[in-house]
Amino acid sequence: MSVTFQQDVPLDRYNTFGLPCVARRYAEIITPAQLSELARAGEFGSRSPLILGGGSNLLLPAELDDIVLKISIRGRELIGSDDDHHFVRAGAGENWHDFVRWTLDMGWPGLENLSLIPGTVGAAPVQNIGAYGLEMCERMLMLETVDLRSGARVTMDFDACRFGYRDSLFKHEGAGRFAITAVTFRLPKRWTPLTRYLDVAKELAARGIIDPTPLDVSDAIIAIRLRKLPDPEKIGNAGSFFKNPVVSASLHDALLARFPAIPAHRQFDGSMKLAAGWLIEQAGWKGRDLGPVGMFEGQALVMVNRGGATRLDVQKLAETVQADVLDKFGVRLEIEPVQP
Ligand SMILES: Cc1cc2nc3c(=O)[nH]c(=O)nc-3n(C[C@H](O)[C@H](O)[C@H](O)COP(=O)(O)OP(=O)(O)OC[C@H]3O[C@@H](n4cnc5c(N)ncnc54)[C@H](O)[C@@H]3O)c2cc1C
Repeated sequence: MSVTFQQDVPLDRYNTFGLPCVARRYAEIITPAQLSELARAGEFGSRSPLILGGGSNLLLPAELDDIVLKISIRGRELIGSDDDHHFVRAGAGENWHDFVRWTLDMGWPGLENLSLIPGTVGAAPVQNIGAYGLEMCERMLMLETVDLRSGARVTMDFDACRFGYRDSLFKHEGAGRFAITAVTFRLPKRWTPLTRYLDVAKELAARGIIDPTPLDVSDAIIAIRLRKLPDPEKIGNAGSFFKNPVVSASLHDALLARFPAIPAHRQFDGSMKLAAGWLIEQAGWKGRDLGPVGMFEGQALVMVNRGGATRLDVQKLAETVQADVLDKFGVRLEIEPVQP
């Protein structure tokens, strides 16, 4: 099936921050073969297209001159199993949360801690989505892509994806080059709940659940997220706006001496991950606005669009918060959403 391009398409409704943006050329992709065909026809020239999923981790500019490819490749199936795992494959355009709930309904647990994260299956590996003690890469077997330079289909395993904390190959050299078309997950047959996060343990206890099922964990996490995070349908946002900064043990010790309440988690290599939301709150930005954007009153880590914001407004507040946190703590915050 050949691809139909539309001209001057407004993307305001295709990004959860609600930023105004016009795409000069836009196409919806429903098969990997369409991507290969475009690449082989030289459609992209030397420029990388913007690959669009659900738009929940993007800060869009007012105009996009590059081609925008909205990935709507569907399909989900059990493709096999061994003694220890179910192998489940999903098209990149499947809605992430619907996919997670479907795996639970089918009796294949393992992704429940990532319930209610907005967006698509194909975008999940891009920043290696994570929440409540689980990262997507821990459950991924492999993924399928189309190389938009050559049109070739390329399969990648865990190592090839170079996953890190909210990071992967697809945020660096692979950005705009590899369009992810499907992801295969490796879900454990011998399931144990991951409830070491205090919020999850507390929510389950409040529900009187001692021995949770995968659905119980998913339901608890959905309830926590609905309480804590602003609904993008009601107020524009892209979830966590900054990554949690990872600092050396010596910087952490120095900070701890000055700020005894500073929250931190030790990493495998001895470095310490700080809570960006806490730093922002201490810098006085929780619930405070600058122009039409602000740091959310319920969770300082989330920047929200109070109405009519542009990317310039977002950048101005981001820079101001970064400068204040740097000034107070000597720690540089890194923006999490992608800025094409
Ligand atoms: C309320 C809220 C809560 C959130 N909570 C979390 C959370 O708990 N944990 C977390 O990790 N994230 C969270 N996020 C961020 C976001 O939901 C995830 O990053 C999600 O994976 C983005 O999916 P998307 O389809 O919307 O991607 P988009 O925003 O459309 O794209 C994000 C990036 O991925 C690229 N991309 C998209 N699809 C593909 C593809 N098929 N192939 C190659 N590249 C692609 C894009 O080019 C872009 O660079 C949250 C966001 C919101 C709004």
